[in-house]
Amino acid sequence: MTRNAELYERACRTIPGGVNSPVRAYRSVGGTPPFIERAAGPYVWDADKQRYIDYVGSWGPAILGHAHPAVIKAVQDAAVNGLSFGAPTEGEVQLAEMLCERMPSIEQVRMVSSGTEATMSAIRLARGFTGRDKIIKFEGCYHGHADSLLVKAGSGLLTFGNPTSAGVPAEFAAHTLVLDYNDLDAVEAAFKEYGGQIACIIVEPVAGNMNMVQPKPGFLQGLREQCTRHGALLIFDEVMTGFRVGPQGVQGRVGITPDLTTLAKVIGGGMPMGAFGGRRDVMAKIAPLGPVYQAGTLSGNPIAVAAGITTLRLIGEPDFYARLETQTARLVKGLCSLASEAGIPFSADSVGGMFGIYFRDTIPTSLAEVSASNVDAFNQFFHAALSRGVMFAPSAFEAGFVSAMHDDAVIKNTLDVAQAAFAEITAR
Ligand SMILES: *Cc1c(COP(=O)(O)O)cnc(C)c1O
Repeated sequence: MTRNAELYERACRTIPGGVNSPVRAYRSVGGTPPFIERAAGPYVWDADKQRYIDYVGSWGPAILGHAHPAVIKAVQDAAVNGLSFGAPTEGEVQLAEMLCERMPSIEQVRMVSSGTEATMSAIRLARGFTGRDKIIKFEGCYHGHADSLLVKAGSGLLTFGNPTSAGVPAEFAAHTLVLDYNDLDAVEAAFKEYGGQIACIIVEPVAGNMNMVQPKPGFLQGLREQCTRHGALLIFDEVMTGFRVGPQGVQGRVGITPDLTTLAKVIGGGMPMGAFGGRRDVMAKIAPLGPVYQAGTLSGNPIAVAAGITTLRLIGEPDFYARLETQTARLVKGLCSLASEAGIPFSADSVGGMFGIYFRDTIPTSLAEVSASNVDAFNQFFHAALSRGVMFAPSAFEAGFVSAMHDDAVIKNTLDVAQAAFAEITAR
């Protein structure tokens, strides 16, 4: 038995499914997960000492590559002064200043410890600010696991949603309207029907939790206009895309100003960290200034803040994103031409340092189109690559991530592996 398999068996005895977050269990692709022992730069090593080129990147945070020496040093330096105080620190102020300076839509920001907390709090704030209960989200967008967001579309057009998880009361889901991504007509219809009751739209401005799906031209602008017209708030959930697709997230790329933005992943540099922020008049409704309650024992944790500040400093260097985008595009282009040579229906897309690979002919624009891809072919490709030392996300419904440490040699190594993996696929 391999050490990975031994650890998995042991983990399953005391941890449900052997994992602390479900996608890690490899249910989607089959098999059992490697247990990671350490990571450096573009690589992770498992408990059997196997090395992998990593395109998971801790699901987004590892934009500088793993264990960047400056980030590790910042964490070590902060740790010797104490791990948590439950009182304000200068580091939090510095991180808040950096976030507000880099994302102009953020006039004030509140720190939390995860993306889930950020979106949950932003939704509560939007409801508290507008005095309305209903929210709009889009099918395939993931905003963490708060009750009102674990919701899928109801049976009819413009009916309110159904829970996607047991334990979520139908009454909670009944406040969430779930529409198709990129369907602006549905948004207009929803506001026509329920305009005065809708507190906010929450959207991944580039979706990265149904594989990767980009907004169609005009979609985000249309959301902005509808929200403004009907007095609802527009929340960009940039937990994944913030500082991943460019120095100002998607909002900087497309030039659209949301009312609120949620962040996590990159801004913690691998430590537990999230944030939500936006318009000053909206943020003024948060306790202790206003009536919307929100709090956290470990919020703005000094170690997480130190990792975040150092990460933001390093990714703020000139040309950082130009290089990251070039390397990601190079990977995606290489994969497309190898798949085409192998005669496999395949397409791929990238934005900044994130990418999607799809076993279908054209780049999808909705969850329905992603779902129509050849998941069997993806699963075969995944395992063929993994066994050759390249780790993609273990699901056809997740985006991939490139780091600053994925240099030309690492990309070439990946493409050599992909060529062999494409040759092995039997499902077409
Ligand atoms: C990862 C993610 C979340 C949840 O963040 P956690 O830190 O896992 O709670 C929310 N929204 C988006 C867009 C995400 O990608």
